[in-house]
This record gives sequence, C-alpha cells and structure tokens, in this order.
Amino acid sequence: MDNLRANLKNKKRVVVKIGSSSLQHPETGDLDYTKMDILVRELCNIRNEGKDVILVSSGAIGCGRKSLHLKPPLTIAQKQACAAIGQARLMTTYQKIFSEYSHQAAQILMTRNTIVADLNRRNAQNTFNELLRMEVIPIVNENDTISTFEVEDIIGDNDTLSAIVTALTGADLLILLSDIDGLYTDDPRQNPNAEFVARVDSLTDERLRMGKGTTGSSVGTGGMETKLTAAKIATYSGADMIIANGADVRVIHRIMEGRDYGTIFKANKNEAFDFAQFIEELHR
Ligand code: GLU
Repeated sequence: MDNLRANLKNKKRVVVKIGSSSLQHPETGDLDYTKMDILVRELCNIRNEGKDVILVSSGAIGCGRKSLHLKPPLTIAQKQACAAIGQARLMTTYQKIFSEYSHQAAQILMTRNTIVADLNRRNAQNTFNELLRMEVIPIVNENDTISTFEVEDIIGDNDTLSAIVTALTGADLLILLSDIDGLYTDDPRQNPNAEFVARVDSLTDERLRMGKGTTGSSVGTGGMETKLTAAKIATYSGADMIIANGADVRVIHRIMEGRDYGTIFKANKNEAFDFAQFIEELHR
C-alpha cells in the first residue's frame, strides 16, 4: 500500500465535504435519506475512533426549493429565501440522524467575512475548537441567506469553503466527495483519452490548469477548478486532500482504511501561505 494512503488511518482531524447532488434523488431533487443515514453513520464511526470530524454539507438551496415547489431559474433573492428554509430542514434531518447514533451535531454558517475579518475568524476558530473538544460534529455551510450566492463577494462554493474550514481548524485530512471519481488530465465526459490521476504530490501550474469549469452536475456549483483551488488551500495548510466519488458514501471508511479510491493530494505545508489573504484576493 502507498505510504501516503497507509498513513490516512492515523489522521486526527477530518473534514468531509458532500455536495447537493450527492444528497438528493436525481429523479426528484428530494433528500435521499438512505444516503444521509449512511453518511452520518460513517462520520459517527470516525468520531467513535476518537478522531475529530467536521462535515461541510451543501443542499440548503435545493432542499428549500423543493419545499417551495420552485422551478429554476431562480433569482438571487429566491435562492436566499430557499436557503433560509432549506438550511433549517437540512439541519433538522441531520440532527435527527446524528442523535440516532448518540452523537451531537452543531451548525456553523460562514461567509467570506468570517475568514477575512480577524475578529470573526478568531471567533469561528474558537467555536470549532470548543465544539470538537466537546466531541460534537460541526456541520458547516455557507450562510447563503446573507451572502450573495454566485456573485463575487462570497467564498464561492463549498469546495473552497471546506478547504478554508480545513485550514482554519488545522485539520490533517480533507475528503471532497464529488460526482466524479477524481482528477483527470481532461474532462472524461468530453475526451475519451482523458487519464485518471491517482496521486498529486505537488500542485504545479500544469496541474492547476487541468481544472475545467464544471463536473456536469446541475445542482452543485463546484467544478474541477474549485476542487484544485481547494487542493491548494488544503495542501498548503498542511492537510492531505482526497477527491472521490460520493455516489457510495461508504467510500469514506474505505479511504480511511488506506484503500485506493479517488485522487490523493499530498500535504505540502507552505509557511508563507496565508489562507485568509488568499480568500481576500480570490474574490476581490
Ligand atoms: N451553499 C449551497 C447550498 O447549500 C451550495 C453551494 C455548493 O454546492 O457549492 O445549497
């Protein structure tokens, strides 16, 4: 077994990101309770191993849209209203399932300002640390109701958000669950010669250019480009990162066992890297 993979079982603080498309039934857009249940069970199991776990979950807008019976395209105000309804529904469902496994979940909603404003960032960091010390599982999303979704003054998407959370909490592993198996040299849906990349040891400019605008998903916002931005933030902050297919969320324990799923990006701590400044410059 690859050393990098074998070492994953020794990780102490793990951030898992799940996208809207992995939480919903593709036919209807309604929440897939079976998947949510398996996801929560996987996370509780990591917690039961004595590791800290943080979940970054999308789905607020999709969930609210379903309960309001709205059809896309939606205005920004409509999306924000959907998020206000959907985030509460999403958390109600998560809390119910977490409590079935005797674990506590907490909600943390963040905006770009949570990162770039020093006081807010310190407060967020303290809250994360306190929750983790209490063995609670924080569930994070962007505060879509007050930050303007899909316009420039936000963190942008939950791929980037999960990497920020990794940096902020000093986590040593980020697992990005996506609707694609990992990184390819080109978009495999368009180019049959695209090759799968199993391991990335350093993020060269050439690698960063491999990001394409979309993964083909109609509900999430993050394409491969945002995943590579996430890889930069996470690996420069000292965490390994994995992009894997979230179609079967049991992939989480398989990854933790060191098995070969997805693309692994090796941690490459860069002392000069300031993630708050990076975010400030990313959406200036
Ligand atoms: N924050 C958005 C939501 O919960 C999703 C953002 C994303 O998918 O990247 O609906």
